[in-house]
Amino acid sequence: KFITLEGGEGAGKSTQAGLLTSWLHDRGIDAIQTREPGGTPGADAVRALLLDGNIPFTATAEAHLFAAARADHVESLIRPALAAGKWIICDRFIDSTLAYQGAAGKLGVDIVRTINETAIGDTMPDLTILLRTNVDTGARRARVRDGDETDRFSMRDAEFHTMVARAFDSFAQEDPGRFAVIDAEQSIEAVARAIRSAVEAQLP
Ligand code: C5P
Repeated sequence: KFITLEGGEGAGKSTQAGLLTSWLHDRGIDAIQTREPGGTPGADAVRALLLDGNIPFTATAEAHLFAAARADHVESLIRPALAAGKWIICDRFIDSTLAYQGAAGKLGVDIVRTINETAIGDTMPDLTILLRTNVDTGARRARVRDGDETDRFSMRDAEFHTMVARAFDSFAQEDPGRFAVIDAEQSIEAVARAIRSAVEAQLP
């Protein structure tokens, strides 16, 4: 099974990805936790380029870099693991790119989808968990996490993050069979419980 976690800044995606992966391990499932951009040496190298605040990229170049990282991740890690019967728990995937670079960025969703087609092929998630937070809560959590650390994406304003949140909501509405939408304003434990019940439907 291929499970992705999506949501804005500070929604708790990586915390919940860790909790879900350990829960699956306890059930004897061979699950691999990974994240985007990154997850393989090649994709991590592209991530470093993307987050480097000193390198300017055009919006199109940036979208291609996200897709390049994804191609490496899908071909070297995700697809072979799924073929071997393992589970993949991935923090961000295509929906993040469609929301950030597509809907909230300059390119629009259709162009970003096209750029990603060859990177993904038919390796689409079986289940996508959307963690919903208020933009304010997310920004506060991300500030606590990152302190004074900044990257090229730190300058985005609340309007940008509101567009990202709306885009995630509309993707979930368009594809209710793939998405489980969870209120991430709740406690970590309550969110973890909600995720487990969405995943239980996928268990053998
Ligand atoms: O998931 P994580 O918080 O580690 O992402 C790192 C940064 O990359 C964040 O600032 C996020 O907004 C940004 N990002 C992005 N477009 C994506 C995925 C992540 O701008 N498609």
